[in-house]
Amino acid sequence: MPCEIWLKPSTETETKGAGLCMSDIPPFLTSTKLSSVPGLVHGFFTRAGGVSGPPYDSLNASWSNGDSAQAVSENLSRIMAALGLERLVSSRQVHGDVINVVGESTLRSFKARPPILLADPGDALVTGISDTGLLIKIADCQSVFLVDPERRMCANVHSGWRGSVQNVAGKTVEYLRERFNCLPGRMLAAVGPSLGPCCAEYVNFRNEFPPDLWHFQTRPAYFDFWAMTRHQLVEAGIPNENIDILGRCTVCEKSTFFSYRGERDTGRMAAVIGWKG
Ligand SMILES: [Zn+2]
Repeated sequence: MPCEIWLKPSTETETKGAGLCMSDIPPFLTSTKLSSVPGLVHGFFTRAGGVSGPPYDSLNASWSNGDSAQAVSENLSRIMAALGLERLVSSRQVHGDVINVVGESTLRSFKARPPILLADPGDALVTGISDTGLLIKIADCQSVFLVDPERRMCANVHSGWRGSVQNVAGKTVEYLRERFNCLPGRMLAAVGPSLGPCCAEYVNFRNEFPPDLWHFQTRPAYFDFWAMTRHQLVEAGIPNENIDILGRCTVCEKSTFFSYRGERDTGRMAAVIGWKG
């Protein structure tokens, strides 16, 4: 089993989610590899368990797609409560390779947009501080969780096809190594629900992808981005056996996940990782 779904929150989560009853706690997927790391909390949320109406039904985590701001705020509060976190940090994702560090000093410069904080625009968030979840919003793009259990550092990377072309996941591993002395050889990684090889058709790939990525085609014009990310993480030094690809395609499972390709006008799912205590 590459992953499991948690439908029943822990007692601690119930306490944290003041004002929320059990049915208000949204379910989320986890990686079995990351679940064994002491002090780490993480979750790939689905579209279930929120308050947004169609076409954002129901756990939409983005204010930028036309949904009611009030509904999104309530959804984000539920996401935070589900993981028992005190803070969530997100940023405007720009399909680039900018990495933002979430530390005690940088936190003060972030803009408050209750119930969360906004870092500068970028596509990777890195932290070692406690009770602060790193939030990436997705609907077909990948959220890539990276963890060094010994250095107690984690990262959340937004990687769509432009991110894959720029190798933002590999660059974040390298950044963790250089800046925080993380060792890729002991790091763990998990890739959440995203566009699968079954549905990733790129008819203009000759213009969009460099030739060294063309061999990730599974049939003409269809690409395996899960294999591409695995390859980039291994190249960055993470052992293959430490990488968990959940293998759930957002386009194939539109009733469970938001899919931009599948629906266009839709919500964004939350993927969150952070340290507790
Ligand atoms: Zn698919």
